Amino acid sequence: MSITAIRGFNDILPGDSEIWRHIEKEAHGIFSSYGFSEIKTPIAEKTELFKRSIGETTDIVEKEMYTFADRHGDLITLRPEGTASVVRAYIEHKLYTTPVNKLYYFGPMFRYERPQKGRYRQFYQIGAEVLGDASPRADAEALAMLMSFFERIEVKGAELQINSLGCLECRAVYKERLKEYLSGVASRLCENCLRRMEANPLRALDCKSPGCIEATERAPSILDSLCGACKDHFEKVKYYLRLSGIEPKINPRMVRGLDYYTKTTFEITSTGLGSQNAVAAGGRYDRLVSELGGPETPCFGFAIGIERVALILKEGGGYKKPLTVFIALGDKAEERSIQLLKGWRERGIRVVEDFSTGALKNRMKRADRMGARYTVILGEDELNSGVVAIKDMKTSAQVKLPFDLAADRVSIE
Ligand SMILES: [Zn+2]
Ligand SMILES: [Zn+2]
Repeated sequence: MSITAIRGFNDILPGDSEIWRHIEKEAHGIFSSYGFSEIKTPIAEKTELFKRSIGETTDIVEKEMYTFADRHGDLITLRPEGTASVVRAYIEHKLYTTPVNKLYYFGPMFRYERPQKGRYRQFYQIGAEVLGDASPRADAEALAMLMSFFERIEVKGAELQINSLGCLECRAVYKERLKEYLSGVASRLCENCLRRMEANPLRALDCKSPGCIEATERAPSILDSLCGACKDHFEKVKYYLRLSGIEPKINPRMVRGLDYYTKTTFEITSTGLGSQNAVAAGGRYDRLVSELGGPETPCFGFAIGIERVALILKEGGGYKKPLTVFIALGDKAEERSIQLLKGWRERGIRVVEDFSTGALKNRMKRADRMGARYTVILGEDELNSGVVAIKDMKTSAQVKLPFDLAADRVSIE
């Protein structure tokens, strides 16, 4: 019997990997234009880091982490998200000696969840963090950057939803109000929410159980409990977003599954997969750095789910670079093709030369099976007149063009 991959762990095959590369490349380009630099952290950390940052009573820490003892018996965890590691590295390497750090990362994360379409146990995120900036302009700028990223890669119907979770003071006031409300509807809450009601009542607002959704429909809004400073911050974020041409939707029920958020939290959803799905999420976390032993550092960050974005681009027919298969006939044409294709590749054309021999008819079939969008033939006649024959594999139309014009032609999807 052959061996298969671990459940929820996924291969990214040719056809998809080009889409992934495209997403990653556009992210690098846009993030770098906003002054972000890449950071690469290990995929495993001491378990303690995630317990202390994400929060003991969150779904992630309670039931979704890949945690195991190494050969020394030390508990280590495959990272379930990227921010904790970035903050750990920020403190460890004293990056705070620079006034503001704008960092981004790309890589796999691990959560033991029920696998389904677009959701895996090893999944990839592109994330960015602004460390050391308290200004609401930092929130708005990062969100505007994210929205232009989705626009650039053509993710359809991207919608920004925002909320504020307030600061420690005003959230404590809200927690009391919410607890009071929840105890009135306790009989309809699920076991999880009941158990967490004391320590973490906000969880009930994003619980997926139908009873909890119904029971919390009339729950008080956190936005009515914000203190003056938090309210002002939230108003300014909205104001600067509008100046960037973005109209956010306010969603006071959005609490996110992590404990470390303060003030702004957000989600970007897309209609690209039929139903409304989150493609990116994040928010402000002004206390996490100090809670993990660093200096007081206000921060804002987000992560993008690559699997979902890739699915949207794929189903939308989105990004695909056409493949050209090049067939040279005869020694002279074979020799000429080496220089010719070097030039095409320098121009970014995706071309595979077919080195097989045999009848042209069979080689054309082979090109088709390789997924060629165009097949280009250079025979002796063509060589003598400085042209190539291009066959459009979709329409079967054939044209002869000079070398440089041919390169333009096969660049078009
Ligand atoms: Zn506050
Ligand atoms: Zn519940």
